[in-house]
Amino acid sequence: MSIPSGMIHPDEARQIVLDSISQLPSESVPLTNAAGRVLARDVVARYDYPAFPASTMDGYAIASDDVSPWREITGVQIAGPDLGLTVYPGQTVKIMTGAPLPHGADAIIPIEMVEQADDHIVMPDEAVQPGAFLRQPGSDIRSGQTLITAGALITGVELGLIATMGYDTVSVSRKPRVAVISTGDELVDPGSDLAPGMIPDSNRYSLGAALRTMGAEIVHSSRVGDDVRELAERVTSVRDDIDILVTSGGVSVGDKDVVRMLLGESAEVKFRRVFMKPGKPLTFALDKGLVIFGLPGNPVSSMVSLELFVRPAINKMLGRHPLVPDRVSVTLATDIKPSDRLEFQRVQVTVDESGRLLASSTGNQISSRLASMLNANALIVIDAGTETIPAGTVVPAILLDLPRSAGTK
Ligand code: AMP
Ligand code: MG
Repeated sequence: MSIPSGMIHPDEARQIVLDSISQLPSESVPLTNAAGRVLARDVVARYDYPAFPASTMDGYAIASDDVSPWREITGVQIAGPDLGLTVYPGQTVKIMTGAPLPHGADAIIPIEMVEQADDHIVMPDEAVQPGAFLRQPGSDIRSGQTLITAGALITGVELGLIATMGYDTVSVSRKPRVAVISTGDELVDPGSDLAPGMIPDSNRYSLGAALRTMGAEIVHSSRVGDDVRELAERVTSVRDDIDILVTSGGVSVGDKDVVRMLLGESAEVKFRRVFMKPGKPLTFALDKGLVIFGLPGNPVSSMVSLELFVRPAINKMLGRHPLVPDRVSVTLATDIKPSDRLEFQRVQVTVDESGRLLASSTGNQISSRLASMLNANALIVIDAGTETIPAGTVVPAILLDLPRSAGTK
């Protein structure tokens, strides 16, 4: 199906967004604040690790070529400062996991493999191989090795490796600073009385929370009416503090099209309508270094647009991947009716007994029904068309979260 004039394909829209955005500068943060951030520079090993030959077991340090049938225990080396002990022929040093190997020794016998007396051990019959139960210097990490590449999300494992290399700070990308402003005369704050015709402002909360999980910092969140002057004043008051402005509502072609009126004045509007469902009206604009996403007001449209266009933008600012969402193949559990636009339908993907990814619809897909995103862990990508797509058909999907096994809650 050809794309009507005035609209662009979502892939093209995302490319325009990505081409308009550059990576943010880095900043240094202490280890304790680094989890969840994105590494800005490769972490390079600055020494071999372990730095010394270390025992992997509680046991006895011995010389493997010593043939004495029993050994006198001459000392104890625990994990800690190297006591500088030496194992001479006929002797052994008791040693703990992680402790440095004494001089003269080249192997460990685990405690379970020897007969122990107060002051000596009786050796087993089998020969002990040199290097047994030892971690050699550099066997985990080699000095100069690139340990973690820039762009990695810092989780516990990355943090542990960074700490292992003795770094107490990490270079991370600065978080994109975002303002979220919802627009609409019908909106009230949650908790306020609802006069007829009024609805709670939900987008400000769903968008703000989703943006945070994407790695953004929400520096401003507020609500304005359908009043272009009010919006313009609000934007002016926050724009110096932010990288991205996200608005919701007012981008369709209704009378009170505030964002459109606001942006018409000075901004460079890159596109206004995308050939997709939900989320056809979507304004993307640049204004003197400020990146502006005018998201549609319908709750699902705004959240799906956020996922498809704002997440890649944030990833690019953070130096993180993917910029183009990965796709997997899923099998439809139910019939699907396509629409007249490329559609991103919300589904719950589970893994069946044979390991297949099975996509079940979350129900009515109308773009005002935010509950269609509840428990949804993927968006299936359905081409525009008229023919029902039968259950069993394999279609592409963008995963929002990892699928669980079928039958698990
Ligand atoms: P709009 O894009 O402003 O034309 O809004 C489209 C639909 O989304 C209307 O039904 C609005 O009432 C609804 N809507 C707009 N903004 C919000 C919001 N912040 N929270 C919940 N619903 C909204
Ligand atoms: Mg509105």
